[in-house]
Amino acid sequence: MAKLEARGIRKSFGPNEVCRGIDLSVDQGEMVCLIGASGSGKSTLLRCLNLLEPIDDGEIWLDGQDISIPGLDPQPVRQRIGMVFQSYNLFPHMTAVENAMLAPRRVRNMTREALLAGITELFERFGLKDRMEHYPDQLSGGQQQRVAIVRALAMKPEIMLFDEITSALDPELVGEVLDVLRQLREEGMTMVLATHEMGFARELADKVCFLDEGVILEEGPPEQLFGAPMRDRTRAFLKRVL
Ligand code: ADP
Ligand code: MG
Repeated sequence: MAKLEARGIRKSFGPNEVCRGIDLSVDQGEMVCLIGASGSGKSTLLRCLNLLEPIDDGEIWLDGQDISIPGLDPQPVRQRIGMVFQSYNLFPHMTAVENAMLAPRRVRNMTREALLAGITELFERFGLKDRMEHYPDQLSGGQQQRVAIVRALAMKPEIMLFDEITSALDPELVGEVLDVLRQLREEGMTMVLATHEMGFARELADKVCFLDEGVILEEGPPEQLFGAPMRDRTRAFLKRVL
């Protein structure tokens, strides 16, 4: 059974149908990369997966449970499926550790001390221990994005969604954020990434999905999708970006 499975997802904004029947299956511990031109529907699909956007049609299954049934409380699902965005959106008036503590303190029934111990461990694990008491404007973009990842991990999600998390960074800061993803993958996290980092996807993805105008036009292991794409549009896209 897949850890997370989308079946026939459809999503429109007004007359604009952005997801036009998307099937996506993510196994436990897999890293799936979504690639495709701007506007192809990657962000919308990710937002649908953790119920930030209501879908118009289709189903989303998490651990064998349909999480897309009408009326289901999205909050517990969003705790199980974490998401990190291109813009890290840390609260500027709170330190890194306060930012990371905020959401878990609201929902998890733990003392501040117990929570702090777990979160300190996360900061350590991702090389940010000495940045915990810093405010966002005292951190580089790469460090802020890493704090945003730690903040999402503080909820102990089972799956992480990443939406172009390196796209706003100066090139020299991209590597340290990709290293965090690499580490998470080694630790067995189940992940879905929308990314423009083709080298990274090629190196580390278990599966790459090429989105085109709201459908997954082609998917496969990276060596196949990058090495021997079958569709003209996939080839044209790769030619443009590589
Ligand atoms: P990608 O992430 O691949 O660039 P998006 O999912 O962001 O693609 O966008 C796909 C299309 O959906 C675009 O045409 C975009 O303008 C539209 N869209 C996305 N979000 C909204 C929204 N909240 N309201 C209206 N249109 C939207
Ligand atoms: Mg996007």
